[in-house]
Amino acid sequence: MSGDCLFCKIAEGALSTEFLLATDHLVAFRDLHPVAPSHILVIPKKHISSLADLEADDQSLMGEMMLAIGQLAEQEGLESGFRVVVNTGPDGGQSVHHLHFHLLGGRSLTWPPG
Ligand code: AMP
Repeated sequence: MSGDCLFCKIAEGALSTEFLLATDHLVAFRDLHPVAPSHILVIPKKHISSLADLEADDQSLMGEMMLAIGQLAEQEGLESGFRVVVNTGPDGGQSVHHLHFHLLGGRSLTWPPG
C-alpha cells in the first residue's frame, strides 16, 4: 500500500469496488469511464508505480496478470478480439500512478491510437 494511491485503496477493498476477478496478487474491475463496451482494469495488489518501475522479481506477477487478462477476455465473450493497453508516464497518458492494464473490447478498435 502506498500512502494516497487510489488503486491501492481499491485493491485492498476500501472503496467497495466490485471485482470481476481477485487473486492473492491482483484484482480486476470495470473502468469508471469506459471507452469500449468492455473496459476492465487489471492491477497488481502490490504498489508498482508504472511499467517503467518493474523489477526482476515482478516477472511471475506479470505472467499471472497476462493469464488473468486472457481469462477475463474469455469471461467477457471477446472472441473477435480485444486490446490491452498500459499507459506509461506523461507521454503515455498515464493518470493513475499504480500499474494497470486496460482490457478493451466489444467494438472494433482503430489504430493508431491518439
Ligand atoms: P490511465 O489514464 O491509463 O492512468 O488510466 C486510469 C484509468 O482509471 C482511467 O481510465 C480512469 O477512468 C480509471 N479510474 C479512475 N478512477 C477509477 C475508479 N475509482 N474506479 C475505476 N476506474 C477508475
